[in-house]
Amino acid sequence: MEEILKQLPQRAKDTNTENKKFFAKLKKKPPKNLDTLMVELHEAEFRKTDCLNCANCCKTTGPLFTDKDVERIAKHFRMKPQQFIETYLRVDEDHDYVLQSVPCTFLGADNYCSIYEVRPKACREFPHTDRKKFQQISNLTLKNVAICPAAFNIVEEMKRRIS
Ligand code: SF4
Ligand code: SF4
Repeated sequence: MEEILKQLPQRAKDTNTENKKFFAKLKKKPPKNLDTLMVELHEAEFRKTDCLNCANCCKTTGPLFTDKDVERIAKHFRMKPQQFIETYLRVDEDHDYVLQSVPCTFLGADNYCSIYEVRPKACREFPHTDRKKFQQISNLTLKNVAICPAAFNIVEEMKRRIS
C-alpha cells in the first residue's frame, strides 16, 4: 500500500485530462443505471481495499465538520460544542469547520479512528463513490483520485464500463 500511495498523485496527474473529458461527457449524458453501477463498483473495490491499511484520507486531508457533527462529537467527549471547536477545529476559507491539523487528531497509530462511532458524516461517506447522481460531484472526485487509491480504481473501472 505504501508504494501505491506514493505513486498515486502522479498517476492522478497522468489521468487528469482523460478524467476531465470523461466526467464532462458523463455530466451531459449520464447512463440510466449510473446509481446502480456506482454501488456495484464501490462495493467491489472496497471488498479488495482495506482502509485500515491506508488511512490516507485521515492522514492528508481532514473532513468538514457540520454543526451536527460538532454537537455529536463534543457530547462524546463530554465537552461543550464551543470548547470542542476551540480545541480541535478552525474555520477554513470556505467558512467551514475543519481540523486544525492533519493527520487527524483522532487517528490512531494503528489507523483506527478513535471516534469511529461518532465520526463526521464526511468521513462516513468518503470517497462518496456510491452516492446517487455521482456525475454531480466530478470536481470533488477529480481531487479525491489523488488521495484515495480506491476512488482512483473506481474511476478507472468506470471508464472501462461506460463508453
Ligand atoms: S477511503 Fe480511500 S483514502 Fe481513505 S482509507 Fe479508504 S482507501 Fe484510503
Ligand atoms: S475522524 Fe476518524 S475517520 Fe475522520 S479523519 Fe479523523 S480519524 Fe479519519
